[in-house]
Amino acid sequence: MAISIPSRQLFIDGEWREPVLKKRIPIVNPATEETIGSIPAATAEDVELAVDAARKALARNKGKDWASASGALRAKYLRAIAAKITERKSELAKLETIDCGKPLEEAAWDIDDVAGCFEYYADLAEGLDAKQKAPVSVPMDTFKSHVLKEPIGVVGLITPWNYPLLMAAWKVAPALAAGCAAILKPSELASVTCLELGEICKDVGLPSGILNILTGFGPEAGAPLASHPHVDKIAFTGSCATGSKIMTAAAQLVKPVTMELGGKSPIVVFDDVDLDKAAEWTIFGCFWTNGQICSATSRLLVHESIADEFLDRLVKWCQNIKISDPLEEGCRLGPVVSAGQYEKVLNFVSTAEREGAKILFGGVRPKHLKKGYFVEPAIVTNVTTSMQLWREEVFGPVLCVKTFSSEDEAIELANDTIYGLGAAVISNDLERCERVTKALQAGIVWVNCSQPCFTQAPWGGNKRSGFGRELGEWGLDNYLTVKQVTEYV
Ligand code: NAD
Repeated sequence: MAISIPSRQLFIDGEWREPVLKKRIPIVNPATEETIGSIPAATAEDVELAVDAARKALARNKGKDWASASGALRAKYLRAIAAKITERKSELAKLETIDCGKPLEEAAWDIDDVAGCFEYYADLAEGLDAKQKAPVSVPMDTFKSHVLKEPIGVVGLITPWNYPLLMAAWKVAPALAAGCAAILKPSELASVTCLELGEICKDVGLPSGILNILTGFGPEAGAPLASHPHVDKIAFTGSCATGSKIMTAAAQLVKPVTMELGGKSPIVVFDDVDLDKAAEWTIFGCFWTNGQICSATSRLLVHESIADEFLDRLVKWCQNIKISDPLEEGCRLGPVVSAGQYEKVLNFVSTAEREGAKILFGGVRPKHLKKGYFVEPAIVTNVTTSMQLWREEVFGPVLCVKTFSSEDEAIELANDTIYGLGAAVISNDLERCERVTKALQAGIVWVNCSQPCFTQAPWGGNKRSGFGRELGEWGLDNYLTVKQVTEYV
């Protein structure tokens, strides 16, 4: 079914505005390699306008429905946004599919999650009212203290391409719920649905300037946002390298940041498991969304006594998976997002082979697809801990495998990474699962599964996977500041 990309400008102060330098970036459909539209490319001049709009919007709406204590009024807008997203679900899912190559069925689930996220933070915005003036017990009768939770102010939200609208929603919904004004800077590789969020804000009558959307390249649009003196906080999701640059810029102004960065997450499969179920979670954990998930469990640690049988199952699954245009029904793997990402994934596999690893399956273009950035899911064995594939994030469909013989060895291998985002343990022995969970250095541990993610539960990593947590109440706290009020009585 044909779908065309709406031609949009930057969304600033409630209006569509052409970028000051009038530049645009082509959009390439990763399944066909065809240019299917373009997005505006913001620069520092547009950042200036958006920051100004956001600051004025906070001032204009103070004491009305924004930045005042009334979370209930903000909740009304968040629910209206959720309803519009649900109304436009099928169109938004198709736009995401042609923009970033995600199978249509997956994209539709993501859009449901986006709406759910706005609904959830509408509830929390309402709940915020009751939490104001929480008393603090102090040891002197002559003083009474309480706490106010207030919005941080103007926030810059910089997001990646793998879940374009969902990653934006994880930041926009709590920021608005808290009463902040926001400037969203989505990835230049997949911004189409994020721009549609601007149209949705117009439709629901969100006060102008409260959400501004600047598409564009990182160094041109993201960097001036990160270093802007009137942006009070940056919430970032993306690579470790970019996160480090943003932290450096923010440090100059002592600006708070939250960092959701990369990963190289392990899945540990013990010898007492149901092999079919464990294989399903292993496949899902590494190849869902083509492995382009920060928490993808891309390092398989499998007990040596079941390794051969287990790997046979994984290879059979890979041989039978439907790889096709992601708009096609039943597609399980679409293309990776871009030509650059395609080259990167193939390079990881060929480097691993050169370093002595064995490619058990995949890591090449499927024979039946001549165009598009398609890669067969790769299973790589004979991996050593010094190899690039073991140490670095691929962000693509590549599973590297190592065997272990004891629980201690499994834990040591699982923690042998600079990252600490997700980790999974698969075993029928629940006491062992508990021991291993405690020993794993990760912000999220899945037991007998991999990747489920709930808006209500905290999300984020340790070590170089970042700090701070999104989602749940933690997500709202990212955009609130705590004011102590002490009164002499
Ligand atoms: P990226 O770091 O290349 O880009 C992320 C965003 O930062 C984009 O909007 C980009 O334009 C912007 N950017 C780039 N340079 C910038 C600069 N100098 N200043 C300010 N902004 C800049 O990451 P990506 O390739 O879009 O996404 C993939 C990465 O994101 C992976 O490492 C993945 O693990 C990570 N990720 C993490 C999570 C999480 O929850 N921890 C979720 C999704 C993706």
